[in-house]
Amino acid sequence: MATNHFRRVGAARPSHLMYTTGVGALVDLPNFSVLVRGLDDWNYAHPGWETIAEPRLLAAVRALGGRSVTELRPAPWLEGTDRDPQGPAARIGVPTMPFPGWLRCTVCDELAPLDSGVFGFENLKARKPHEARFFHTNCPRKKTGRKPLAVPARFVLACTAGHLDDFPYPQFVHHGGDCPKASHPRLRMDDRGGNLGANVEILCLSCGGRRNMREVLGQRGAEKLPQCRGRRPHLADFDPDGCRRGQLKLLVVGASNQWFAQTLSALAVPKTGASELQTKVEQHWAVLEKLPSREFLPFARETVPTLREFEKWPDDDELWAAIERQRCGPRPDDDGAIYPDLRTPEWEVFTAAGSLPATDDFTLRRDPDGVPARLKGFFSDVVQVERLREVRALVGFTRLDAPDPDDPDLVTRAPLARSAPTWVPASEVRGEGIFLRVSDDLLDGWVRRVTSSPAMLAHREAYGRFRRNRYSDRITGEFDEMRLWPGERYLALHTLSHLLIRTIALECGYSSASLSERIYAGTDGDPRGGILIYTAVPDAEGTLGGLVSLAEPEALVRLTRRALADALHCSSDPLCAERLPHFPEEFLHGAACHACLFVSETTCERGNRFLDRRFVVPIDDPDLALFPELP
Ligand SMILES: [Zn+2]
Ligand SMILES: [Zn+2]
Ligand SMILES: [Zn+2]
Ligand SMILES: [Zn+2]
Ligand SMILES: [Zn+2]
Repeated sequence: MATNHFRRVGAARPSHLMYTTGVGALVDLPNFSVLVRGLDDWNYAHPGWETIAEPRLLAAVRALGGRSVTELRPAPWLEGTDRDPQGPAARIGVPTMPFPGWLRCTVCDELAPLDSGVFGFENLKARKPHEARFFHTNCPRKKTGRKPLAVPARFVLACTAGHLDDFPYPQFVHHGGDCPKASHPRLRMDDRGGNLGANVEILCLSCGGRRNMREVLGQRGAEKLPQCRGRRPHLADFDPDGCRRGQLKLLVVGASNQWFAQTLSALAVPKTGASELQTKVEQHWAVLEKLPSREFLPFARETVPTLREFEKWPDDDELWAAIERQRCGPRPDDDGAIYPDLRTPEWEVFTAAGSLPATDDFTLRRDPDGVPARLKGFFSDVVQVERLREVRALVGFTRLDAPDPDDPDLVTRAPLARSAPTWVPASEVRGEGIFLRVSDDLLDGWVRRVTSSPAMLAHREAYGRFRRNRYSDRITGEFDEMRLWPGERYLALHTLSHLLIRTIALECGYSSASLSERIYAGTDGDPRGGILIYTAVPDAEGTLGGLVSLAEPEALVRLTRRALADALHCSSDPLCAERLPHFPEEFLHGAACHACLFVSETTCERGNRFLDRRFVVPIDDPDLALFPELP
């Protein structure tokens, strides 16, 4: 990382920039904190960098509102910074700026803006950028030795529209007015310890006024805060639309809810026949859309020259099915955006008949003996994913609330640049994985048994409440609260995925945070039943082959049996086993908790929602379990 006016102030791996920090995020450095600036300030003048090619992901970024985007770029980074701090690599980095704009002297507690002239900055040793620091220039209580360290005043203001602002200390201590004694009053921040600023007092040295930060903590305190000015410090401007939310919230620098990445991710999979056809249909939609029925297809094929491109698919039924799929798919005039479908081509590749050519990005292998005898009837296919490549793009960020994994509109996405960007930051990682396909017969039978069970009804109703409550201030007309309900199958597959991830972590010493999941559950009209568990850890060391070997017959039987047996009990039972969301509750899990099912935030694709052990193993009514009898 580099600041514009200063030398390099720290190092962060580019892959890191996608998950834990990124445009708009506050990053804690040893002696101060910085904010990652918007894309307008990112510099790609250094030679040797290449855009990341992943057309499928790029198309999805464009579909999700980034129509101007034509490139996925890796974060600016040159190897070798650590070896040669004076070399070219040291000047390359993600641009940042110091934030918040107020500092406090750690010796005399004087509180003043960064640019007030009260503080100086030193970054003396190029080899030790972490020693960069601000100091109090004329500290009245300085004794001998180094100039006293000045640290960020730790309060900032944020709103759910993604705005971020400095805390207005002078107005606060003077109850919204001016200081009666001085035009530029001198302030002091007395931090008397305790958490969350519960005992921090702001003093005006000029008039003697004082006020405790406690007054603006919590929900009631928030009402005393000023209205949001729409400040976007990462873009160095104010939102031209102002702030529609208005309500600010007090945050402490370092709070985990100051920034959440909104990302899209795709596996680099080869194109299969089916998705190639779908892509073609999309390209020729203007013509195909007008066909009233399947019977017109032969005529259209003959008379419309551009439809010659469909000669590869002579079967009218197949082509008509693709047209219908396109017709039913999300259209831009639907109410609200939904995430682009990145999963269908992946599912098609995992379930394609015959073998695919192995590439550097994607290689699958199946055991010649197929699914182990003991698991037949449970799994219909087991695939070793020897190589995979995942590309992730940052499309925006949110503050205070995490973006909803289902619904991109639920939380306001803050922009990465002042105007529509032509590129977004992306990262690519390589890994390996296991793909398990759950038997369709097993899943179909289970769906029939559970769909109208009280337990599944409780989940559905909780989901409706969850969406309605979150949208309450925006519902004007019709509102389809079940629009993004992931479906019954999702609950069973997702729970099974977590059970396997936890068991893999226990048995193989993987940190569960280094594993990721993708659930392929499909929809009512197009049901699927697949789970991909994979490693896609930035800079992964030496685990190659470890995860894939778990798909060998013996290991898979052991793993599955242990995962399911462990699911029968939780150390929080009976509390956990009996849990179901009931009105007015709106949490989205049943028999699931940290002791039995939850995994880390980076592992779960749905924020630990849609989980319930009773839908996988018999802990309640055996009829509800996908596996009434364990293998
Ligand atoms: Zn001082
Ligand atoms: Zn005053
Ligand atoms: Zn705002
Ligand atoms: Zn539990
Ligand atoms: Zn999950």
